[in-house]
Amino acid sequence: MDELLRVSHLTISYNGKEAVRNVSFSLDKGEILAVVGESGSGKSTLIKGIMGLLGNAGAVTDGEIWYKSQSVLKLSKKEQRQLLGPEMSMIFQDCKSSFCPVRTIGEQLYESSHEHWKCTGRQVWKRAAELMEKIGLRDHERVLNSYPFELSGGMNQRVGIIAAMLLGPSLILADEPTSALDVTVQRQVVRELLTMRDSYGTAMIIVTHNMGVAREMADKLLVLKNGEVREYGAAESVLEHPQDPYTQELMDSVLQLKV
Ligand code: ADP
Ligand code: MG
Repeated sequence: MDELLRVSHLTISYNGKEAVRNVSFSLDKGEILAVVGESGSGKSTLIKGIMGLLGNAGAVTDGEIWYKSQSVLKLSKKEQRQLLGPEMSMIFQDCKSSFCPVRTIGEQLYESSHEHWKCTGRQVWKRAAELMEKIGLRDHERVLNSYPFELSGGMNQRVGIIAAMLLGPSLILADEPTSALDVTVQRQVVRELLTMRDSYGTAMIIVTHNMGVAREMADKLLVLKNGEVREYGAAESVLEHPQDPYTQELMDSVLQLKV
């Protein structure tokens, strides 16, 4: 079996208050899971929990997370941190603000990968250029020599994909990666994420409130409400035949990406 990630009866609390309750799902290598649900339903908490990035206020209070058959929750903080980059990496809603404003993109890609990969600047440059080529971003030199503020929001997002892919992770967690973009750029980012999955077999968890993005990308769909799973299954069957009225409500009310 090609199982990459298994989340089992996961409960996450902030200062004793549950934000995610009894959530279970699994993800195979190269599969894409979309997590949808209204604001405050626990989507970000769920993916931060998987990455071990809950901060001081949050903690997993029940359940298990298995990554490549290894119990993530049994790892030390340091061991868990070492997974970030080469195994799992994250794409944010607003990549521009997650970059350092006073370092060029090239410098930041080097700095973020150096901890895991004893690489030279030239090696990072070559790897970044190869990834950029994959998504049809030809202007390598200019982009890598730019500061984040010199690039558009869409370009920062595309660079965020490159940064996340740099160390060849098996799993990408993307928290609303297209929500801040206009529709044309949204489509482009969706296409580029799919290209990465198809080229490198990278599994993804995409948090989105855009059912069009979910429809376009997802193999599986998980619907969250108030921290609990309302519906989970093959994306096509959930989208075509939602069992829970809440899923239907979401489909009727939220943004649709017209592709
Ligand atoms: P979503 O990403 O679906 O909008 P979140 O995961 O951000 O939802 O939030 C889920 C719940 O957890 C909300 O009730 C939110 O107020 C709470 N929460 C999120 N982050 C924190 C935090 N750092 N401290 C306390 N409560 C938090
Ligand atoms: Mg969120």
